[in-house]
Amino acid sequence: MPVATQGALRHIDLSFADDLGYQVLLANTYHLMIRPGVEHFQSNGDLHSFMRWPRSVLTDSGGFQLFSLSKQIRITEEGASFRSYTDGRKMLLSPESSIATQRAIGSDIMMVLDHCIPSTSPVTDLRKALQLTTRWAKRSLEARGDSKQALFGIVQGGCNQELRSESASEITQLAFDGFALGGLAVGETRAEREDTIEFAAPLLPDDRPRYVMGIGTPIDLLEAVRRGADMFDCILPTALATQGVAFTSLGKVDLRRGIYRNVNAPLDKDCACRTCQRFTRAYLHHLVKAKESIVQQHISIHNLTFYRSLMYRMRQAILGNSFSEMYGKEADKIAAMDLEFPTVTE
Ligand SMILES: [Zn+2]
Repeated sequence: MPVATQGALRHIDLSFADDLGYQVLLANTYHLMIRPGVEHFQSNGDLHSFMRWPRSVLTDSGGFQLFSLSKQIRITEEGASFRSYTDGRKMLLSPESSIATQRAIGSDIMMVLDHCIPSTSPVTDLRKALQLTTRWAKRSLEARGDSKQALFGIVQGGCNQELRSESASEITQLAFDGFALGGLAVGETRAEREDTIEFAAPLLPDDRPRYVMGIGTPIDLLEAVRRGADMFDCILPTALATQGVAFTSLGKVDLRRGIYRNVNAPLDKDCACRTCQRFTRAYLHHLVKAKESIVQQHISIHNLTFYRSLMYRMRQAILGNSFSEMYGKEADKIAAMDLEFPTVTE
């Protein structure tokens, strides 16, 4: 899922994501409840028509913002209280107000409000957070009422296996339509993250979508799918375009590097995107250096094409029983820094 936090992708029109066949976009409850506000959606119609997106929307509950903005937010049993960053008014993000907002947004997949803390926190803190997450999950289900919108539960527990088991057994007893692993990509190493997914993904029912929230790079996705995960959201394809960074079948390309100044070849010769069909690395490097903002669009188009193709090829490989073969061929390459133009270390 490309990330459209405020109802827009960074740098490019939503129609590109539609053309690429992305089925779901992620939007954010916390930001949309602050602006334009739940009343806006209640009186003017849902987010699909507002942003002109014909396919599905998943809304993050706001739990991640409780983590990333924890200094400005007070968390109690009731929910999280904070002041709006637009006008300073006091607001409460509770399981009930989160669901009410997601119902008004009209998301196809709603997420429960969870309490996300750094994944490597002390066990006592992680246990408290997961227990609050379970109590909030029950209240979210209750608040859903008769809505036909799907609702996913979130398993917490950091990188601790005992706590992941505890959380998974509590959350999977509840009648959710899908299950997520939350609390990853918030401070742990790549190895810790992979171990946690390897341990926790099989604890989730295999007849429901398994969603790993907030990851990741192409290699993160390949490793997580290998361990049984199905769905992801990540800001990287468009966020890294801001810095001039692209992902390719031969690793990560940082277009700021001077080595590309005279490279008259596309970002990725195996890519069919508009950017690779039209532009050389030399031109993209020039635009990055010249700080021409259009280059962010060019790179975003390529990155979203690459991610979509990676997910599609993984799906085809699973269906064709050739995932291990694909993994063996691609893992080292996509995890690398540009294999065609490696950084020389002497
Ligand atoms: Zn491309």
